[in-house]
Amino acid sequence: MWKTEKNRPYLITGPCSAESEEQLNTIADQLVEHQLVDMFRAGIWKPRTRPGSFEGLGEKALPWLSVISTRLSLPVCIEVANSSHVELALKNNITNFWIGARTTVNPFYVQEIADALVGTNASVLVKNPIHPDIELWTGAVERFQKVSGEKVGAIHRGFSSLQTSKYRNIPRWEIPLELKRRFPELFIMCDASHIAGDSNLIAEVAQKSIDLGVTGLMIETHPDPDQALSDAKQQVTSQKLKLIIEQLVLKSNSAGSQVFLDQLEELRAQIDKIDEDILQAISSRLELTKEIGSYKKDNNVTVFQLERWNEILQTRGITGDRLHLRKEFIHRLYETIHSESIRIQTEVIENDLAS
Ligand code: PEP
Ligand code: MN
Repeated sequence: MWKTEKNRPYLITGPCSAESEEQLNTIADQLVEHQLVDMFRAGIWKPRTRPGSFEGLGEKALPWLSVISTRLSLPVCIEVANSSHVELALKNNITNFWIGARTTVNPFYVQEIADALVGTNASVLVKNPIHPDIELWTGAVERFQKVSGEKVGAIHRGFSSLQTSKYRNIPRWEIPLELKRRFPELFIMCDASHIAGDSNLIAEVAQKSIDLGVTGLMIETHPDPDQALSDAKQQVTSQKLKLIIEQLVLKSNSAGSQVFLDQLEELRAQIDKIDEDILQAISSRLELTKEIGSYKKDNNVTVFQLERWNEILQTRGITGDRLHLRKEFIHRLYETIHSESIRIQTEVIENDLAS
């Protein structure tokens, strides 16, 4: 499942939404002709965040997809958001599904869909929830794995955020990487269209995901993107998709050459040494916090000192700037170190009280 013989990532392509039988046939034919599709996608029921936009053609588009699947010997997939979607799809011999970002957030719906899939041998790709919550994503994968086993994969489509970004949905690449750590065998693909939100940014998002080891891409394709009824800005023609795919620089998990492996080993040895030094330094730092804990206790001073915390953030931010380290990274790093320091000081005080 989700593997391709072609010298490119596994591709799920097709329009954001099914708009007419002709539109589906046109784009499916083009994609097959250029070998740009391993599984054809089309949204039938569209969960739009705000009312008033195109919400999909619904049931009547299902037979069109089913015919395309047979005519072109092409697997097709659709989004399902509840058990009746599943039932209607199965009646039309559609057995590959993805779970939308707005559905993954809701364990009731996820479970309802999983229950509807029992005994069907269907495949499911679980998109990340709209907000960066790895536990909900993990939970949804687990619920589907119970039913569909190895025929479950995941789709990284980025996260909504108030933070401004050039992308429609901020990627937070560390989150799909954490999902991979939790499920080493799981197929995780990148929905470059929904991350980018702009057809001109799809190539760089796709390349970034490949650099991180992703082996599958979902890219929305439309015969005439400007006229698309949903997500017009981010859809591409099959011609443009061809260019995007041709320009990708593919990466392998390990390069065969001994020179490469030796150099990698050498760099990793340097990193191991630096990590040892970092942990030594953190350990010495935390030893000092124990002393501070006792001292604060002897003087009846609270463990958490807001002024000191602000000063740490500010001065370390300045040092970080000088060393070209991102402010956000320094902030998160010190949040982690400081909370361990607070925990240790609290423990020192409680132990002193107990003794
Ligand atoms: C889609 O794939 O068209 C879609 C609505 O996706 P998402 O759930 O990622 O917003
Ligand atoms: Mn879309």
